[in-house]
Amino acid sequence: MLKLEIERLPDARGYFGPYGGRFVPETLITPLQELEEAYCQAKEDAAFWEEYRGLLRDYVGRPTPVTFAARLTDACGGAQIWLKREDLAHTGAHKINNALGQALLAKRMGKTRLIAETGAGQHGVAVATAAALLGLGCTIYMGCEDMRRQGPNVLRMRLLGAEVRPVDAGSQTLKDAINEALRDWAFTVRHSHYLLGSALGPHPYPMMVRDFQRVIGEEARAQMLAQAGRLPDTLIACVGGGSNAIGLFHAFLEDPVEMVGVEAGGMDIAGGRHAARFADPLRGRVGILHGVKTYVLQDAQGQILNTHSISAGLDYPAVGPEHALLHDVGRVRYTHVSDREALGAFRALARLEGILPALESAHALAEAMRLAAERPAEHIILVNLSGRGDKDLDTVTQALQEERGA
Ligand SMILES: *Cc1c(COP(=O)(O)O)cnc(C)c1O
Repeated sequence: MLKLEIERLPDARGYFGPYGGRFVPETLITPLQELEEAYCQAKEDAAFWEEYRGLLRDYVGRPTPVTFAARLTDACGGAQIWLKREDLAHTGAHKINNALGQALLAKRMGKTRLIAETGAGQHGVAVATAAALLGLGCTIYMGCEDMRRQGPNVLRMRLLGAEVRPVDAGSQTLKDAINEALRDWAFTVRHSHYLLGSALGPHPYPMMVRDFQRVIGEEARAQMLAQAGRLPDTLIACVGGGSNAIGLFHAFLEDPVEMVGVEAGGMDIAGGRHAARFADPLRGRVGILHGVKTYVLQDAQGQILNTHSISAGLDYPAVGPEHALLHDVGRVRYTHVSDREALGAFRALARLEGILPALESAHALAEAMRLAAERPAEHIILVNLSGRGDKDLDTVTQALQEERGA
């Protein structure tokens, strides 16, 4: 398939090659069609984008900077490492770009309430923030187990005016919360919008979320031309559902730029304690989860597997359909980084650059450090620093203590 064709996807039915689509119960077909129609109209409306870009500039603080990491580069002894600083966006990660875009769309559709699911709480905080800013009601579904693990984010969402509804079904984590949020939406669709947090789920979400995150790559491309005088040679981003990665990659798809997506290698691949859908051919196979056909971690009977990662944002069994296609056609190389390696990169960035990265972003950094050592000094690597690490202080402190004890 030609690169140019890839850039124009999805097709009219919501497919990226064989991936994507809309595999949902009857009750959700009409709401998804209405959403697609409303988005396609908004997409052609200059006033919509003007309002969106205005919020990104004056509220989120965009453009986020691009920073050359001089001391980290020295320490790795090879290629230059540059950082796209999504950690400096309001609420501390890229997720606000999508939350605000969809919240504006919801308002345009006459909806008065947002529904969302959250795992670690980062997406929930972004949605609660957008709801407060735009004067919308907000209900966030969160697994009981996740609520216990992510206390501060539960407090944040409540202070922002959101109702946080505990989900005690199944494993009491993200995938159960998604089911509950979809159930709510089926009953309340007349006045509610379901605000999905990654480039995942049924059409039109993968397309819409990508379009709202595309600003990352558009900015980065112009910033690299202005600051380095040329495009980067390599782009690296972590891949949970895939929104920060596709947000960075998309504007570069037609450029001669190498792209690397980093999945959570967790504790080990062979034993299955990971969330690396592309790295484990035994478990990562094409299937359907939460309305979309893509690579899903499953057992021989097709039961969805529990995943493991030190970073909650990468700990999900499916990957966005556009990444599934980019993987198959070889346009993006996907690799994985272990919990341990991510921790190492977290420490390196803290001590060498004065930046505490999100553990998700630390996965991308670890791969950048590995690659930099193999490439010459004129080679430029741009890493998407998808978020800041304040949310991970407990996890990191505990993991480092265990490492020392071991
Ligand atoms: C949620 C999150 C991710 C993973 O989600 P994607 O959709 O794959 O980007 C990565 N980094 C941070 C900081 C996050 O909060």
